[in-house]
Amino acid sequence: MALERTFSIIKPDATERNLTGSINAVIEAAGLRVVAQKRIQLTRTQAETFYAVHSARPFFGELVDFMISAPVVVQVLEGENAIAKYREVMGATNPENAAEGTIRKLFAKSVGENSVHGSDSPEAAQVEIAQFFAGNEIVG
Ligand code: UDP
Repeated sequence: MALERTFSIIKPDATERNLTGSINAVIEAAGLRVVAQKRIQLTRTQAETFYAVHSARPFFGELVDFMISAPVVVQVLEGENAIAKYREVMGATNPENAAEGTIRKLFAKSVGENSVHGSDSPEAAQVEIAQFFAGNEIVG
């Protein structure tokens, strides 16, 4: 299996509680490498573009408001099978259903304020990484 890259966001509920380092510790313990990272304040337009696939869902407005409520940390993670691996490390969307030891089980507050995002396919990873990082900002 070749090295793969995925896109991650440490969400506002986590940055507000000073959990960036704790979440990175779980990521690194799982064998994923942080090969790009920056802390930014998303604009409303950036958040709407990022979650455009959910624009018709009833929670969209709340989700966008949440994503711009505090800074986020955007990241590129690299490793064997990184996309599926990170989804496993994140845990289920709703922390009540997340497995023990996953980031969402450990830290998420609710199904909406669930601490992290991770790409769900190679196509999504490519689009999401390109939304936030120039090629020369990713150092593997
Ligand atoms: N979300 C929400 N309410 C829901 C489902 C999802 O607020 O009922 C939010 C939540 O922050 C989630 C994001 O929308 O992480 C994207 O949803 P998706 O189903 O893609 O889950 P994920 O891929 O993040 O596990």
